[in-house]
Amino acid sequence: PGKDCVKVAVRVRPFNKRERDAGGRCIISMASSTITIQDPRNSQSPRSFCFDYAYWSHSGFTRDCSGLYIPEEPGGRYADQGSVFQDLGEGILENALQGYNATLLAYGQTGSGKSYSMVGYGPNKGLVPTLSDKLFQAIRANQDSRQCQVFFSMLEIYNEQVVDLLSRGSRSPGGLRVREEQQRGFYVEGLRRVPCDSVEQLMEQGTRMRTTATTHMNANSSRSHMLIILQLKQVSHIAHITKQSNINLVDLAGSERQRVSGSEADRLKEGTAINLSLTTLGNVISALADVAVGKKVVHIPYRDSVLTKLLQSALGGNSRTVMIAALSPADICYEESISTLRYAERAKRIQNRAVVNESPTE
Ligand code: ADP
Ligand code: MG
Repeated sequence: PGKDCVKVAVRVRPFNKRERDAGGRCIISMASSTITIQDPRNSQSPRSFCFDYAYWSHSGFTRDCSGLYIPEEPGGRYADQGSVFQDLGEGILENALQGYNATLLAYGQTGSGKSYSMVGYGPNKGLVPTLSDKLFQAIRANQDSRQCQVFFSMLEIYNEQVVDLLSRGSRSPGGLRVREEQQRGFYVEGLRRVPCDSVEQLMEQGTRMRTTATTHMNANSSRSHMLIILQLKQVSHIAHITKQSNINLVDLAGSERQRVSGSEADRLKEGTAINLSLTTLGNVISALADVAVGKKVVHIPYRDSVLTKLLQSALGGNSRTVMIAALSPADICYEESISTLRYAERAKRIQNRAVVNESPTE
């Protein structure tokens, strides 16, 4: 199988109220797929990074009567949800229909626009709902040649505990277990898989559950990871072939350095990093980036956290993977933004080996 690199996109959002009130300055600029960031305390050292895509969603927008963000003028500079979907979502959809596993990750500090890009708000539908809509459209259009089934799962990882966001009763203490099988790799034992022909309602249900679960644990949802898994099974009537693909859609916890305080500190087991999953993800990405440049790496620490276990095939394995790095435009976020860009730069080097998952129909 051929190697494919992780695709990386960066996106910068408009100022928020806090940044505007602080008289924030925009320190990000973009030209095609290059992004440049200016250190606000040092006028001499702009740094540039080149990614697969760079989305300017900072200015040049207006809102239509429904509240949809669109470019101020036709063909304008503002990258709206539609254009992001065209570049990132279409490819994932096509890959999945061909039988490849696909993964989409959103990374960035809290408030940088991860959920906006992944899920969206109101009429500004993000990648996940649009991808699902188009997936079901494609399935209906191909009904004659193949039989398709889609299963939906949604979970949250908080402090290394897995919570099933679709299963009300089963908030087992300690969370669900992650197990490993030879063929299947890592998976969450007992996770609900709901057959579906639309995801809107399930997502709503999961999001509601996430809020209550978070409150229940006296936690902060910006510190938890949300993972949606869409499993697509296609049985071809003509070729007698079954294709299976998993689509992982991940809204990661905020990447900012996290401080523990008050009651939360009590709850954390001694010696547990506040976000072991996010730290380990960084370590896995760094190790894989080293592998890609020919450095000798003895060990990729997938097993060190729940998130990296579940994303093992997405990172250096059998998946086509896309990362979207979300950025604040403001000078006051310089440190976090530069660290996000460095992280994204390492992710870009990772090489996967995706294969079509097909077998003769039984
Ligand atoms: P995160 O999930 O990273 O914590 P959000 O996605 O919730 O951050 O975004 C924070 C705020 O910024 C939200 O109010 C959202 O509507 C706004 N926002 C984010 N990205 C964009 C964008 N591309 N265009 C317009 N508004 C955005
Ligand atoms: Mg969010």
